[in-house]
Amino acid sequence: RHHDDHIALVPTMGSLHNGHLSLVNLAREHAERVIVSIFVNPTQFGDGEDFDEYPRTLDRDTRRLKNTPADAIFAPDVDTMYPFGLDMATRVSVPGLTENFCGASRPGHFDGVTTVVCKLFCIVQPDCAIFGEKDFQQLVAIRQMVSDLNFDLKIVGMPIYREEDGLAMSSRNRYLTSDERKAALCIIKSLKRAKALFDTGEREGKKITGEVKSGIEAEPLSRIDYIKICDAGDIQDIDQITQRAVLAVAVNVGKARLIDNV
Ligand code: AMP
Repeated sequence: RHHDDHIALVPTMGSLHNGHLSLVNLAREHAERVIVSIFVNPTQFGDGEDFDEYPRTLDRDTRRLKNTPADAIFAPDVDTMYPFGLDMATRVSVPGLTENFCGASRPGHFDGVTTVVCKLFCIVQPDCAIFGEKDFQQLVAIRQMVSDLNFDLKIVGMPIYREEDGLAMSSRNRYLTSDERKAALCIIKSLKRAKALFDTGEREGKKITGEVKSGIEAEPLSRIDYIKICDAGDIQDIDQITQRAVLAVAVNVGKARLIDNV
């Protein structure tokens, strides 16, 4: 590579789907060189979560990346990333922004995310890094980390990439049986109804989340973790939508914990 080529990093946990590939394609627009990292990071999984079952498909991922313009894959093993073990390793945490939403349901999760992303930034030294808006709280936390730790790189967000029927693409979708896959559509259907309500002028948070709640509760295979509206900048709950806001949900369907937002 030329010494003045820019590098864009796309951090992933592998089991690549078209959502990931949309990030790779966006990365290509931002830099001459694109590096995709693939690492199922143990420090971001809690006890009882799916670290062991999480799909690991490096051969298949490598083949998929041959058809998209990635220049290199960085796929370290756990010992390479945490040579002295997990417990004694330095942690990077972004308080505040990570307490609500998924942070409340998954204690320690975001510390694991910001720690590993910080390490990836130090190793790869990219000029820019791409993250999906599906994990919008992660995106906000990483922007904060980059600002707080004075990383000299640009963070770019990518809109949610969906299946044709609207389900947000996720590596965890493969946990769904065919009945659960159908049931999971209650998420996007309810979010769309909420968006329509908002578009007619509704600004009362409870009315909007109530619409989502009844839609998801009507599906017997789903169990709601949370349905919340927050300020898009500081991730604090809001009652009235008077600013840029995110409506986010986490719903368990079968073995899969699915998140989505508008
Ligand atoms: P993961 O492999 O699930 O950790 O995701 C790696 C990156 O891809 C993260 O920045 C995610 O936000 C992003 N991502 C995952 N699924 C999607 C999707 N359906 N649309 C857009 N970005 C996504």
